[in-house]
This record gives sequence, structure tokens and C-alpha cells, in this order.
Amino acid sequence: RSSAEKFEFQAEVSRLMDIIINSLYSNKDIFLRELISNASDALDKIRFLALTDKDVLGEGDTAKLEIQIKLDKAKKILSIRDRGIGMTKEDLIKNLGTIAKSGTSAFVEKMQSSGDLNLIGQFGVGFYSAYLVADYIEVISKHNDDNQYVWESKADGKFAVSEDTWNEPLGRGTEIRLHLRDEAGEYLEESKLKDLVKRYSEFINFPISLWASKEIETEVPVEEDESNDEETETTSTEEEKEEDAEDEDGEKKQKTKKVKETVYEWELLNDVKAIWLRSPKEVTEEEYTKFYHSLSKDFTDEKPMAWSHFNAEGDVEFKAVLYVPPKAPHDLYESYYNSNKANLKLYVRRVFISDEFDELLPKYLSFLKGLVDSDTLPLNVSREMLQQHSSLKTIKKKLIRKALDMIRKLAEEDPDEIHDDDKKDVEKSGETDEKKGQYTKFWNEFGKSIKLGIIEDAANRNRLAKLLRFETTKSDGKLTSLDQYIKRMKNGQKDVFYITGSSKEQLEKSPFLERLIKKGYEVIFFTDPVDEYLMQYLMDYEDKKFQNVSKEGLKVGKDSKAKELKEAFKELTKWWKGNLASENVDDVKISNRLADTPCVVVTSKFGWSANMERIMQSQTL
Ligand code: ADP
Ligand code: MG
Repeated sequence: RSSAEKFEFQAEVSRLMDIIINSLYSNKDIFLRELISNASDALDKIRFLALTDKDVLGEGDTAKLEIQIKLDKAKKILSIRDRGIGMTKEDLIKNLGTIAKSGTSAFVEKMQSSGDLNLIGQFGVGFYSAYLVADYIEVISKHNDDNQYVWESKADGKFAVSEDTWNEPLGRGTEIRLHLRDEAGEYLEESKLKDLVKRYSEFINFPISLWASKEIETEVPVEEDESNDEETETTSTEEEKEEDAEDEDGEKKQKTKKVKETVYEWELLNDVKAIWLRSPKEVTEEEYTKFYHSLSKDFTDEKPMAWSHFNAEGDVEFKAVLYVPPKAPHDLYESYYNSNKANLKLYVRRVFISDEFDELLPKYLSFLKGLVDSDTLPLNVSREMLQQHSSLKTIKKKLIRKALDMIRKLAEEDPDEIHDDDKKDVEKSGETDEKKGQYTKFWNEFGKSIKLGIIEDAANRNRLAKLLRFETTKSDGKLTSLDQYIKRMKNGQKDVFYITGSSKEQLEKSPFLERLIKKGYEVIFFTDPVDEYLMQYLMDYEDKKFQNVSKEGLKVGKDSKAKELKEAFKELTKWWKGNLASENVDDVKISNRLADTPCVVVTSKFGWSANMERIMQSQTL
């Protein structure tokens, strides 16, 4: 069209589209759930605006918040239409082509290594998956603030945008028209689409309908023209069967025939049930898993590690579903301190408000996915005002509690986690195989978050410390917990011993451990850089203090000879002290921490450990 303005895709987007177009990826089905998910997002947005301004919804059909799918078999077009917020001309240009999202290049990279397109939605580029099945796409859109526009592209590096003067006015919303590739003919089958919507979009909270055919048999008068029903499109498919009918009086009745007709009508494909409103007892494991997939846009077949579905009552009422994902997302700790990525969706009385509310969960729990629906929060206020609502604090507190409970249960139900003494009871109860090793898996994915929690969340520090896992001189390569460590503590041992360093192998050779090991004490290995910070916050646990064995102050039981030795070597220690530069060495003492090594340099109680020095140096260099 001559009036069309032409644009080039941003370079990364263009590369992404090339990859999609040329992909041999067999699961092309994913495009439909991505487009439906976009439609649902757009509907959420207009419904949210309507809370404070009813007029934005418009009148008649335009006000219906729904998604409609239509097929044109002859032209091989599949269209998906929503009455969501729509896109202005500028939105079309920016959102569908010229502004690359942060996930774009990450996704391109991922595609080059693994090729699993299934994750596309998580990277924020789901729209482009439509090019798996279409070689030409038109996006027709009407936003309240602008005229109706058409975006179109053949994925050849460029796209065009024109004011729409030829299509039927949409009222408001977006219609995506996919001109299907020859090999994507299966998406013109109604049964295929019904199946896909049921499978992937079951939890979309708006009605999704398909313009579906239905065979009906009707009797029509013979003489008359085959006039079509005004409401529905019909096509005659069967030959007429004429019947001569006479009534009892012998009068001739009007001749009729039976015809089979194909009529089209909107068929609702989903039942718009909100899973979180149902009683947890009624929801099956499979439903929770599917709901997780739709919430997280993680459509790999993996089950979430755990979930918690509860109903909070009292001053602040809300329902929530929380999930521990099967895997940490690719960028979980990448920008931990400057991103505010919240993963909970907030609803107020069934209306989606936002998924960017970082007031709902602290940062260290941002790996959780889920949803909160509150009846207590007000509906008709701005997001900013809601963000300051006093109930949010209560909600947050309860969510943290429930989240930590859920994680604790993961450990409690894991047979690998159970201390030998308690093992028998649990084995009797059976059904432990599936849970075996699940906490180690959790720990490997999200352990760092628990450590960050200990640092950041003083109120829950003890609860979080219970979830901590580490290796020790006695754990035999396995993970163990503070509770187990304390159970194994020697008689007379007051402190929990630990040592920090860059690896277990390095630490095992440390002279600081010699005597402790010889005497049968257990020492925790902390080998993650974050552990140094962690131990500045974790001062005690269950009345036990922590002692870094490379620092001053180590007390290993009672040593009867200490006084004697101190006296005997008085002169030598004096001589040493006098000869070592006092800037570098504070003191020289007789030690009871060594076995074979003659002497060792110890850090002062409040100074940085050698490992901390190493970490700080690597950060400033
Ligand atoms: P994401 O949905 O993760 O943002 P997509 O690639 O699926 O990424 O979509 C890109 C953007 O295009 C969306 O963020 C939205 O702004 C816009 N968009 C896509 N589909 C629609 C639609 N049906 N209605 C309104 N906006 C849409
Ligand atoms: Mg999307």
C-alpha cells in the first residue's frame, strides 16, 4: 500500500525472527498460547483501567472482554482477536519491532545453543513465535487514543504500518491475522485448535471462543428459496429428501424436506475458572502443575518442586497460590540488587492488577511464582496508592511465612534429609521415593536465595537458618543442616565451628583443621563468596555461637596444660613478638588449635578472614 510507512526491525529482533523462520523445531503449537497470552494481557490492562474509568470499555460488543479465534480455510488465515487495550500506531512500531526487550539477545543466544523454543514466552518475545506457522502476519489494532492501524510483515527484516481504512472497525483491541504456511495446514482444523486451547490456555481468565462449525438437521419448505439464517452462516451439505405428507382430512400439507446444514457459531472453549478460588482439596496435582505452567510461561514438562495454596482470614483476607519452580530462571541473580522483578501476580477481587508489585515478597524470595487475590484491598484506586496500602505489609508477612513453611516441608518430606536415627519411622510411612533428593535439588537451584534471606531478613533469620545446607568435615560429601550439626556436637563443645575458603579441597588441607579433626570435632565448609557476608549476619543459632576456626577466639574444650605451656614459652613468644613488625601482627600466642603444623597466622576476631581479603581483592581488581 502506498500510504504504508516502512520500518526495519531492530537487529536482534531480526536475528530472532530469522531463527524462528528457519527453525526445525517441531513443536510449533506454542505460537497459539503465546498469542492468547498476549490477548489476555491486553484484556487485563483494559479491565484494570476500567476500574477507575468505566468509559474506557465502550459500549455493546466492544465492552465484552473476550478472545475470539476464527479460521478462513480458503484463504488459509487463522485470526485471533481480543477486545483488550489495543495498540496505538506508536505501540505497534515499538512493541512489534523496533525496541528489543532485554530478553531478546539472551533468547537468541539460548536458541543457538539449545534450540528449545518452548521458553520463548519467558524471554518476553513470544509474539514472534507466530512466524513458526505463518510467513505473513497482519496485526490490526485499535487503541482508545488512536485510529485503527495495520502492522504487517513477511519477516524479511522489515515491517510496514498503515492507517486502516479497509478492514471492519474493531471497536477496540487487536486482531492478529496469520497467513499460514503451506505446511501449517493443521492449524486450520477446528479440532486441532480446540485441543490446543484446552491444553495450553485452560487458565486464561477470559472467555476464548472459536467460530466453529456444527451440523444440524432442519426441516424446510420445499418451494421456498433456501434462505439462510440471518444470525449464522450456513451451507447446505446434504441432498434434499422430499416428503409428501397428507393430514387426516386429505388436505395437502406444505411440502418439506430435511437438510443437514453446517452452521457456524461461537463455541466457548474454556470455562474461566479461577483455580485459587476453589478449595485446595478439590484441585488435583495435575491442575496445579498446569496452572503453574500458565502462570510462569514455563512450558517445559517439569513439575514445580512445591506449591502452597491457602486462604488467609482475619483483618486482611486473601487467597494465594505459591510455587517453587523446578529450575531457577536464567537471570535470577544477574541483577539481583537493581532489578525489582516480582513474580507474583496481584489480583483484587478477581481483577488482575499487576505483576510488578515488589511489595508482596522480599527480593530474596523473588524466585517464587504465584498469585495473590485479595478482597481487602480497594479496587478503585491507582496502582501507586495501592502500593502504599497498609494491608500489603500484613499480606507480605503471611506470604513469607507460608513460603518458608513450604520450603521447610520440602526438606521434611525428603528421605535423604532425614537423620539416620529418625529414618525408620519415615520409611514405614512409604511413598518417599518421589521426594528423594528433592531438597538437594532445591538447594542447588535456590540455596543462594536462602543465604541472601539470612542476610536481609532479620525477622526470619532463624527460620531461614534452619533451611541452610552445607558440607562439613564429617558430612561425607553430602549436604547437612545446622540441626544435624548440633545433634552431632561433642560433649563440652560450645560453638559451631566453620571455615571459609574458595573450595572444599583447599580447605581440607588447612592447618586450622588439624587438631579439630584429630579431636573429632566437626567443621563446616563455607565455600561460596556470599558465605562470608552470611556469617557476618548469622551470629547464633539455637543458643550456639559461630566460630570461624581461622579467627582468634577458638576454644576447643578445656586444655589443662595451657597455663603450663604459656609459662614455659613466655620468653619465646616475647622474642617472636619483638621481631615481627607490629603493623602486620597484633599478637603472638601459644595455640591449642594445631597438631602437626608448627605455627599459623590467625585473623583477629573482628577482622576480615583471609578468604574475605581474597574476595574483596577480586572485587576491586
Ligand atoms: P510479552 O508478552 O512478554 O511482552 P510479546 O513478544 O509476546 O512479549 O509481545 C510484545 C509486546 O507486544 C507486548 O508486551 C505488548 O505490548 C504488545 N502486544 C502483543 N500482542 C498484543 C495484543 N494482543 N494487544 C496489545 N498489545 C499486544
Ligand atoms: Mg507475550
